[in-house]
Amino acid sequence: MPVTKTKSKLKAKAAKPAPASVKAVAPPRDYKPLDPKRITDLLNRLNAAYPDPKCALTHRNAWELTVATILSAQCTDVRVNMVTPELFAKYPTPADLARVQPELIEPDIRTTGFFRNKSKSIVGAARKVMSDFKGKVPETMDELLTLPGVARKTANVVLGSWFGKAVGVVVDTHVYRLSRRLEITKADNPVNIEQDLMKIIPQNKWIDFSHQLIWHGRKICFARKPNCAECPLENLCHAADKTWSTVPIHKSARP
Ligand code: SF4
Repeated sequence: MPVTKTKSKLKAKAAKPAPASVKAVAPPRDYKPLDPKRITDLLNRLNAAYPDPKCALTHRNAWELTVATILSAQCTDVRVNMVTPELFAKYPTPADLARVQPELIEPDIRTTGFFRNKSKSIVGAARKVMSDFKGKVPETMDELLTLPGVARKTANVVLGSWFGKAVGVVVDTHVYRLSRRLEITKADNPVNIEQDLMKIIPQNKWIDFSHQLIWHGRKICFARKPNCAECPLENLCHAADKTWSTVPIHKSARP
């Protein structure tokens, strides 16, 4: 058997999750979760694990990404990606959606949940794009926020992933949960979490960082039973709900 295989077998055996039996404690006084060295370490490990992070919502232009992000609220990207091809085939442009009543598209987006509100937002956004922005999705935060159904999360997705503008940090459910587990924020609402992250993450990393946390939340740091034994951030993380730990668990590090 090749040496590498033997080693990886041994490693797997050694890393077999022991329960997170460590009793949760208060962080030591000299613990600084925002220490620049720790943040750099986190960023480097995320870069190594997710070197080319991309938005998981299928889209071909800024308008499609806007609609897909509105649809992604309380819904998985996989589900959104099942719905949007047909929706965009029927209504390819904002002009097409601006012309219809919201009720007409409800059946097309029903499976994404909250379909009544979402259909109103999408048609409302299409009408606004037509009336105020000559049919083009605007490229500034202030203008994007005038579109019905668009709050900072959607605006940051569109600005970052389509226009390549790092105006803020996307805070979705994954970024919310992971940044609290990792103790890089204590805030409990997306607006304040975004402000905290913007202070500690270099601006040129804002776009990638949010995508990386989103991917990490999808693949390893699940809401329930995170897969800590496989996590590249493990010894930097003191989350109270870890499933396995080599470091002390902090009572306050809650998702
Ligand atoms: S160690 Fe566990 S809780 Fe912490 S980031 Fe990794 S998967 Fe999430």
